[in-house]
Amino acid sequence: MKEEGIELIKDGKRLDGRGFEELRPIKIEVGVLKRADGSCYFEMGNNKALAAVYGPREMHPRHLQDAKTAVVNYRYNMAPFSVDERKRPGPDRRSVEISKVSRAALDPVILKEYYPKTAIDVYVELLQSDAGTRTAGINAASVALADAGIPMKDLVSSIAAGKIGGEMVLDMNAPEDNYGEADMPVAMIARTDTITMLQMDGRFTKEDFKRGLVLAKKACHEIYELQRAALLDKYSERAGEGGEE
Ligand code: ADP
Repeated sequence: MKEEGIELIKDGKRLDGRGFEELRPIKIEVGVLKRADGSCYFEMGNNKALAAVYGPREMHPRHLQDAKTAVVNYRYNMAPFSVDERKRPGPDRRSVEISKVSRAALDPVILKEYYPKTAIDVYVELLQSDAGTRTAGINAASVALADAGIPMKDLVSSIAAGKIGGEMVLDMNAPEDNYGEADMPVAMIARTDTITMLQMDGRFTKEDFKRGLVLAKKACHEIYELQRAALLDKYSERAGEGGEE
């Protein structure tokens, strides 16, 4: 449920000065962790997410193996120091739910049938959280999977659209998320406009919902270009250096 009682729009701007359709500044770095097969640091305003991908590797215990495809595991975790008041460490209902939907958001693009009996493990750690962390995590994980060389149909990009102070906006920060009317995290394959995850908290009219989708699509296209550029940046740099590390 949403809390009420703070003015989120003043003089046509949001409290942090952003326009309604403006995303927080995004920074993406590929291959930041030496020991992971693929990794990505994804910053979206005050959200700081780190994704590490391991695999495909033989699945243990063996009774969990799938003879036909790889099994994708996704663990979302918010660090105790990532929020204002220390968060109790370890998994909770929220992180279990976010892990489940994030895995489902990425699942359709991963060519799992290439690696039967294996596991692909995706770990997402939130070092700093300011609402929209599941979307930041999915963006990071998608790039980390590509960095790990996991065959994929495409990248997945993610953003939340929502309603604050009666206006439809993109990419809410924590006060907007807490005091706004509704939020709707979306993940999609931007190139084909295929939605792979859609959640909603709060209330939208039918028109709000449609508008939210239009905004989310536009934002996912922007994010996709940044994800792609970050990967190209790393791999064209390496090609220029004369090959593998
Ligand atoms: P998302 O981060 O994907 O928007 P939520 O809507 O559940 O997911 O959370 C919104 C924000 O609320 C988080 O990004 C974080 O800033 C804050 N938050 C969530 N859980 C906690 C917690 N246990 N302690 C403190 N802040 C939290």
